[in-house]
Amino acid sequence: MDLSIVIPLFNEEESLPELTAWIDKVCVANNITYEAILIDDGSSDNSWDVVMKLSKENPNIKGISFRRNYGKSAALNVGFEQVVGDVVMTMDADLQDSPEEIPEMVKMIKEDGFDIVSGWKKKRYDPLTKTIPTKLFNWATRKMSGIELNDFNCGLKSYKRQVVKSIEVYGEMHRYIPVIAKWAGFTKIGEKVVAHQERKYGVTKFGLERFVNGFLDLFSISFLGKFGKRPMHFFGLIGTIMFFIGFLFSVWIGIDKLFLDKTGTLLANRAGFFIALAAMIIGVQMFLAGFLGEMISRNNPKRNTYLIKEKANIVEL
Ligand code: UDP
Ligand code: MG
Repeated sequence: MDLSIVIPLFNEEESLPELTAWIDKVCVANNITYEAILIDDGSSDNSWDVVMKLSKENPNIKGISFRRNYGKSAALNVGFEQVVGDVVMTMDADLQDSPEEIPEMVKMIKEDGFDIVSGWKKKRYDPLTKTIPTKLFNWATRKMSGIELNDFNCGLKSYKRQVVKSIEVYGEMHRYIPVIAKWAGFTKIGEKVVAHQERKYGVTKFGLERFVNGFLDLFSISFLGKFGKRPMHFFGLIGTIMFFIGFLFSVWIGIDKLFLDKTGTLLANRAGFFIALAAMIIGVQMFLAGFLGEMISRNNPKRNTYLIKEKANIVEL
């Protein structure tokens, strides 16, 4: 099979028939064999009935229904477990992404050798309250990840199958799939300008909290990427520096009190005393956080999963 399309959906009953018909039309016209996996993320409207009906009419359309709403990342993750196509695409269900982009995005993976191709909604049809914070979000993600993409969170992306089988998307990390993939060693990341439309039916499922969560996730992900497997290198360094600063201050105020100071000021009335105290306590705390982090990561069964690219003359036992 050439292509698997994973489509997360939450209360999108009106869009689905149009979307799947359009996908089918484009794929058939371009001789692309495909499956479309619709993940119903706990919709409370009739989305799942619509999916069932569509899947009866067309065997290429498959569906999975969550018992409750887990979020877009969970839907993508479950979809990625199912895919069998050589190329995997993701697409929003609300008809904001155009299926007309499919052939080119498949070609860029199959023939041009990209691991990931991310859509870029260069001309967007979204309100200003969304487009301005999005610019900031993309800028920050570019700086932190070193990946030169203009539009990280575009729902329309294509991947080599191996990429989606190697990564895990959880929480709200769908915004950072290119970053996660880069850390897994897939560095050939391309971009394609894609058409974007106004939402035709239904309403957006993400409010302004997306930006707060998005930025918090950016910190988590860059921390995990750098220090997830060696937390002591982060906390230990800060802890040591803090403790050392505190220690120097206590030595200084100790010497000063014993030998130099003639005014008889109480230690507890001096600024240096509090700096020494706070710095040493924080330093020890940081060190402990580092040890705890190491113990947690040591108990993680996945700590030694290394992704292998190819093998030569290796005998599998
Ligand atoms: N979505 C989902 N689960 C959720 C929220 C959204 O599966 O909890 C789906 C939604 O149905 C759509 C896609 O994720 O197919 C993108 O959501 P939306 O269009 O609301 O986001 P926006 O375009 O406003 O960024
Ligand atoms: Mg949308």
